[in-house]
Amino acid sequence: MERTKIILDENELPKQWYNILPDLPTPLEPPLNPATNEPIGPDDLSPIFPMGLIKQEMSQDRYIDIPEEVRDIYRLWRPSPIYRAHRLEAALKTPARIYYKNEGVSPPGSHKPNTAIAQAYFNKKEGVERLSTETGAGQWGSALSFACSLFDLECKVYMVKSSFYQKPYRKSLINLWGANVIPSPSTETQAGRSILEKHPDTSGSLGIAISEAVEDAATHDNTKYALGSVLNHVMLHQTVIGLEAKLQMDMVEDYPDVVIGCVGGGSNFSGVSFPFIRDKIKDNKDVDIVAVEPTACPTLTGGDFRYDFGDTAEMTPLLKMYTLGHDFVPPPIHSGGLRYHGDSPIISQLYADGIMRAVAYHQTEIFDAATTFARTEGIVPAPEAAHAIKCAIDMALECKKTGEEKSILFNFSGHGHFDMAAYDTYFNGEMTDE
Ligand SMILES: *Cc1c(COP(=O)(O)O)cnc(C)c1O
Repeated sequence: MERTKIILDENELPKQWYNILPDLPTPLEPPLNPATNEPIGPDDLSPIFPMGLIKQEMSQDRYIDIPEEVRDIYRLWRPSPIYRAHRLEAALKTPARIYYKNEGVSPPGSHKPNTAIAQAYFNKKEGVERLSTETGAGQWGSALSFACSLFDLECKVYMVKSSFYQKPYRKSLINLWGANVIPSPSTETQAGRSILEKHPDTSGSLGIAISEAVEDAATHDNTKYALGSVLNHVMLHQTVIGLEAKLQMDMVEDYPDVVIGCVGGGSNFSGVSFPFIRDKIKDNKDVDIVAVEPTACPTLTGGDFRYDFGDTAEMTPLLKMYTLGHDFVPPPIHSGGLRYHGDSPIISQLYADGIMRAVAYHQTEIFDAATTFARTEGIVPAPEAAHAIKCAIDMALECKKTGEEKSILFNFSGHGHFDMAAYDTYFNGEMTDE
């Protein structure tokens, strides 16, 4: 049998991140100041972000050095393995070759520390003492708590209320790494209090939690805000995934016909796909790039491409992106990490330009796919990652019909060890589709 696990050497860990901004066929429209409708500059962002990250947000440099301190921490779990899914292929009886990049091997169990470590580093370097953030499923909160513990920073996490109670062990993990975590909306911020007045029973949303975390940073001198997705610098940090993946595919002398990732705000999808999108734009490579989202929160497949706020309380700059509207409160599906009304402006532009496509799936079919995967490959997927799995399985089954021997690469964005309550709901037959 051909090799199952494709592993890079420690010294093959990328030394630079790949910035797609200079390679975009259509340049991004700038973020706008909502008060003036003028493009915002670095100074508008400096109350909530450190200058090192603001520069990356706007940089036109194609490659940006990864600081040695960050690479040192990446080495705790990177380079991450790619697996050839031989057993899944056999179960599907497909002629396709299925590969997955396993980002579930990081200490918090997802791709999120790729940017959390970098963000904590650049904040620490500029003397910031405390970071505030929001979290949906708790993946980002745990990743940032982990990163802050390594850089000796305080951390405050506003966790979407539905997840706070659905995923108690993510909350415990956030506590274990030392952050202070509370359910959002909370009574600790103006934004939280005003939502609670209007909607006392709200299950919360990422948009609301972002408002609280931004307000926290704006009202504390020693505090900056950290966002786990959507922004350009976050997509940049995640490109270690795709840069490694290209080397790994080279090792087995293969190149993907299809690259798949699930999309919440777009960071793991960007991470795995941008280096391949570069090949598509620059070298005319024929590669099908597919984003997968939940039908319950169909930002690309059902949203509009327009300027919108990143948060519910209208505190963030306006971003040109696909959006369901900043007051959209998605149903409390188990893929908490995919419950965001907007999307990365870079992904939005690539999608509008037809360089990539998007599909959406229902929650129960996602768990069917997760179960098939766990029973063949063994690894338990996070419900978010199962979106990518479902799409890969569908494409592999399509190949079975047509006889095409496609090479399919998907990003396995995280493991599901903290999602067992959701699996219980599924196996009890209590899971519903919106
Ligand atoms: C947060 C998360 C996502 C969604 O976020 P993106 O920024 O779109 O990647 C997907 N999968 C897992 C496991 C997550 O934790």
